[in-house]
Amino acid sequence: MHQINNASLLSGLSEQGSHTLTITNPATGEVLGHVPTVSESALQDMIEAAHQGQKAWAKTTAKHRAQCLNRWFQLIHDNQDDLARIMTLEQGKPLAEAKGEVAYGASFIEWFAEEAKRTYGETIPGHTADRRLMTIKQPIGVACAITPWNFPIAMITRKAAPALAAGCSFIVKPSELTPLSALAITELAYQAGIPRDILKVVCSDNARMIGQIFTASPLIRKLSFTGSTRVGKLLMEQCADTVKRTSMELGGNAPFIVFDDADIPAAIQGAIASKFRNAGQTCVCANRFYVHSRIYDDFVAQFHATINKLVTGNGLDEGVTIGPVINQAAKDKVTHLINQACQQGATQLGEPIPADGLFVPPQILVNVDHQMDIVQQEIFGPVAPVIKFDSDEALIEMANDTPYGLAAYFYSQNIKRIWKVAEALEYGMVGINEGIISTEVAPFGGVKESGIGREGAKQGIDEYMEIKYLCFGGI
Ligand code: ADP
Repeated sequence: MHQINNASLLSGLSEQGSHTLTITNPATGEVLGHVPTVSESALQDMIEAAHQGQKAWAKTTAKHRAQCLNRWFQLIHDNQDDLARIMTLEQGKPLAEAKGEVAYGASFIEWFAEEAKRTYGETIPGHTADRRLMTIKQPIGVACAITPWNFPIAMITRKAAPALAAGCSFIVKPSELTPLSALAITELAYQAGIPRDILKVVCSDNARMIGQIFTASPLIRKLSFTGSTRVGKLLMEQCADTVKRTSMELGGNAPFIVFDDADIPAAIQGAIASKFRNAGQTCVCANRFYVHSRIYDDFVAQFHATINKLVTGNGLDEGVTIGPVINQAAKDKVTHLINQACQQGATQLGEPIPADGLFVPPQILVNVDHQMDIVQQEIFGPVAPVIKFDSDEALIEMANDTPYGLAAYFYSQNIKRIWKVAEALEYGMVGINEGIISTEVAPFGGVKESGIGREGAKQGIDEYMEIKYLCFGGI
């Protein structure tokens, strides 16, 4: 049994509540440790301290903040094996993927350490002869975040790094299912010299209470949320009272389109990476496949042969490529969507789903109709429904026929078609002949009900800054 409830991991939790969260390993069901939860009054004190601390942090130079962030980046790099192991234990993803996430998560810290020094204002040509106009950028104040379990490190660093770089203080509530990764990276941030009062992790199984305190607090000026569209909408409503800035990274329903001129082996490779990474539990995972009727049979045969090579099991075991899903509710949802689709005429290609444990072997569904729930809803599991299409126009209509607009993918080798389709897809991000698009250097975010704002890239730091306009008169 692995016990990771050690004192240094929990040192970020200075003010603790009365009860604890029990953290379990989704691959085995074993208890990994217990984490103290935060009380309401302790959280209010933390917000007050973050408010006071932010004033001093904002006065430091960008260079100083960049140095702290660079040390944090380096410490995460130095501890990548331990961090990856903690992540696999509490979240389930294969160790190689966990290592990939540690590097990806750290990349935001390095990136925003660099961007901290480039928060330029502008000079604006004056509208009268005696005035001179300019803008400066200033940190927004105290920022808070609520993050999910599917990327226990990257979803935090993608928010914390730009916030701290900008000169904000930052309080995060990680998912109650994966707080250990959050606590581990925060301990490294303290070791890197980031003051304790301006970076805090709060753990709770009462997410609603934390959300209400965050959103009601006039001291908190920004909420960044990654999670379901349902909770995102609720938090936006709650933020209205204090007119808080929000960034929302919500659900998706990504189409993965294969045209008849596509390079099929490349499309299969992209499909596997986009669909089955993290057992299908990412918001940018391909959710539904549209394949041109001329190549449909060929694509399905090759796709089926390739998923048979994936290995489902405990993410710590050598060679495993698909870990467990996060909990029983996730397994029940995926199973229900498959059974329902099959009752409506779909055919399942894949190993039967074992009754015990949280493992779902990779599945392909054929004879699928665009109207089925498995196409219309976000599956969040290793299941690929494949739909046949004939015309580009009908395809675009189906691809955009969703309230979501996060990521879309398509494979084609025709440059004219590539431009037309890329422009027509109502999505914040489009992978063209590419199944993995996330990187710290490009803007990540959605349109429609998939969210507001962009994370990463040069735009990511603006989410934590206000523009102040200065008008110099009498010149
Ligand atoms: P997922 O389905 O990915 O778990 P959720 O939106 O349920 O997405 O959860 C994402 C994050 O939002 C988690 O940290 C969770 O604890 C938190 N959360 C869930 N419900 C609420 C709520 N009512 N208010 C604030 N946070 C919430």
